[in-house]
Amino acid sequence: MRIDRLRPSFVADIPETLEPGVLYLALEYDAMAHLCACGCGAEVATPIGPTDWRIAWNGVGMTVRPSIGNGSLACRSHYVIEAGRINWCAPMSDRDIAGERARTAAAKGLTPYPSARQAEPPEPQIAQPLAAQAPWYIRAWRQIVGS
Ligand SMILES: [Zn+2]
Repeated sequence: MRIDRLRPSFVADIPETLEPGVLYLALEYDAMAHLCACGCGAEVATPIGPTDWRIAWNGVGMTVRPSIGNGSLACRSHYVIEAGRINWCAPMSDRDIAGERARTAAAKGLTPYPSARQAEPPEPQIAQPLAAQAPWYIRAWRQIVGS
């Protein structure tokens, strides 16, 4: 069943089991996770950062930018979280996914990319399954050593 709202839950760490309709935020680790809003049950991890997802709280709900494109999930759902509400977008096509991977990599400085294109905002961004991401301490270390 599709979810149309995500309620924020501020946690010390992302729990093992996620509940539908909850947007978990572990700000200490810049970590954010929720179950895919389409109802498929997949965990969607959206790390918080300047080249990842950005969040804003308006006192009613959490706004998350850019959109959440679940191109790596079977459902390929794609939506925007706006003040806690899910605004649905068209499912991601293969072309969206390939284009977005390149843009995201360029935004993160991983691949050379023409400078004119580099200014484009990375939208939507591919969310990776939770397990595919490096633990926070590895990411923190990489930031420190700059690799
Ligand atoms: Zn889904």
